[in-house]
Amino acid sequence: MALHKTRAVVIGRRAFGESDRLVDFYTREYGKVRGIARAARRPRSRFGSALELFTLGEMVFFDSGRSELVQVDHFDIVRSFVGVREHLERLGQGAWAVEVVARMTADRDPQPALFGLLVRTLATMERTARPARAAVCFGLRAVDLLGHRPRIDRCMSCGRLHPFEDPALDVTAGGLVCSACRPSADAIPLSGALVGTLKRLRALSWEEALRLNLAADLDAELGVVLEGLLARLMGRYPLSSRFLTQTRRFHLTVSPPDR
Ligand SMILES: [Zn+2]
Repeated sequence: MALHKTRAVVIGRRAFGESDRLVDFYTREYGKVRGIARAARRPRSRFGSALELFTLGEMVFFDSGRSELVQVDHFDIVRSFVGVREHLERLGQGAWAVEVVARMTADRDPQPALFGLLVRTLATMERTARPARAAVCFGLRAVDLLGHRPRIDRCMSCGRLHPFEDPALDVTAGGLVCSACRPSADAIPLSGALVGTLKRLRALSWEEALRLNLAADLDAELGVVLEGLLARLMGRYPLSSRFLTQTRRFHLTVSPPDR
């Protein structure tokens, strides 16, 4: 049995057996790893509250090499990101980000840059008034880091430079396709203004991208197009998107009227 130590973020968890917990981690050195935390659901478990969603910790685990599951020996909290868990909108956006990591990465495929991006995103979500923007910036950068960066400067079919009328983001083609070239049926239509915004967001630093002010309709379109892009790359829409939609509806219902 080999003993390993790595930084890790809890990206999923569920009860297992009588008192154990199955935990999905995104680790810096090993990529996505599923571990079993023995007796983690007992009242005085040595893991305490360390295995909550989003928690960043220093993990020690055993790997027998014979099973997909590793044995979690220690998980010491480095940062709990409790502020993301205890706020409904931040929780939804954080859940969306970890779901993207969980679904778009393979087991045991380390991507330290993506790990760093996830930690930075959670840290941002904990303090920002715009967790949705942090999620968008995360999603755009994650797509690039995972090797799916779409080309948005020209039509992928005829090579014509943007701007042209009625561009569509065609995942199969790997970027924009003009209407004359007939984008595939599941291509995502987008406005010329949004193509410009995507270019700007790529050129800006993390902090600048978080602060960038966009007209409400452009901001909404950005969310829809990113969601569509990820859904096509992942093979389905993230489950946490539905949670976010419901959360917003809930806020709408319970918010006191403006006076
Ligand atoms: Zn074309």
